[in-house]
Amino acid sequence: MEKNVLNEKINALRKEKNAVILAHYYQVAEIQEIADFVGDSLDLSRKSAETDADVIVFAGVHFMAETAKILSPQKKVLLPDLRAGCSLAESCPVDEFRAFREQHPDHIVVSYVNTTADVKALTDITCTSTNALKIINSIPESQPIIFAPDRNLGNYLNGLTGRNMLLWDGACHVHEEFSLEKIMNILEEHPDAKLIAHPECTRPVQIAADFIGSTSALLRFVTTDESKKFIVATESGILHQMRKKNPDKTFIPAPPIDSTCGCNDCRFMKMHTLQKVYESLRDDKFEIRLDDEIIRKAVMPIQKMLELSN
Ligand code: SF4
Repeated sequence: MEKNVLNEKINALRKEKNAVILAHYYQVAEIQEIADFVGDSLDLSRKSAETDADVIVFAGVHFMAETAKILSPQKKVLLPDLRAGCSLAESCPVDEFRAFREQHPDHIVVSYVNTTADVKALTDITCTSTNALKIINSIPESQPIIFAPDRNLGNYLNGLTGRNMLLWDGACHVHEEFSLEKIMNILEEHPDAKLIAHPECTRPVQIAADFIGSTSALLRFVTTDESKKFIVATESGILHQMRKKNPDKTFIPAPPIDSTCGCNDCRFMKMHTLQKVYESLRDDKFEIRLDDEIIRKAVMPIQKMLELSN
C-alpha cells in the first residue's frame, strides 16, 4: 500500500479507536512523522502515564511497550511487531539477575528502563540515560548500589559520581559496536566536525567524544551548539529529528565495526513499518499482557523515577 494511503487509514483508525501512536527517536522516519509523540524512553514513559487514549500503539521495542502497560494497565497497549526486542534487556535474564541481587542483599537496585518487566519488579528505582545522574545522586553515598544492565552507562556514571556501583555486565548491540578507528578516519576528513556520543558507547568512544549525553541531550546539543557538523555515535534514527530541527547543519552517522552501510541501526527498532502500524491498529495486534503481580511490583520503581525526575 502506498505511504499516503497508509497514512490516511492510520489517521482514520486512530480517531475511531481513540488511539495514540508513540514513537521512539530511533524509529524509522515515516513512523516518526505520523506519530502523536516522538521522544526518548523518559518522554515516552511520561506520555504513557498521562495519555487519555484507550489504545497506545508503541512504535518502540518490547520493554518500552511493557513500561506503557505497567503505567496504564487499563489501556490496550500494542506493539506492531512482537519480535521488536532489545539486546540490552535480553542481556539481563531475570533468574540470573535475581540470584545476583540475592548475593548482595545490602545493595539497592537501580535499573535502566531497558529491562524486562520481570527485572523491573526486582528493582528499587529505574532510570533512563536522561535522568540517571539525578537518580544516582538522590541516593545517599553510603548506600551501595547495583546498577543494571548496561556496563558502559554504569562505568560512565561511576566516573561522574565517584561511586563504585556494582555493575551488571550487559550491553546494547548498537552502542557497543561503533568503530573508533572509522570514527577517527571521518574526523580526519572532517576536522571541523564534533563527535557526540551516547553513554552506552564504549569507553574509548566516550573519551574521544566532544559531548556525551542521552538521545534527548544529543538532540538539544546539536540544536544549540554553534558547530555546523557532527559525527553522531548513537542509533541513526535520531538523525531524522536532528536534520529536521537543524536543516543548515551536517550530521554524519558514526559507523559500526562490521557494516557495508555507514550507519548503525537498531535491528529491533527497525522491525516496525508503516504497514505494521496500520495492521496493529486495524487488528489490535500485538497486545502486551502482563501478570497483575508483576505490574504491581514493577510500577513502584518507575513511579519513583518519574517523581525524582520532575
Ligand atoms: Fe535496545 Fe540498543 Fe536497540 Fe536501544 S538501541 S532498543 S538499547 S538494542
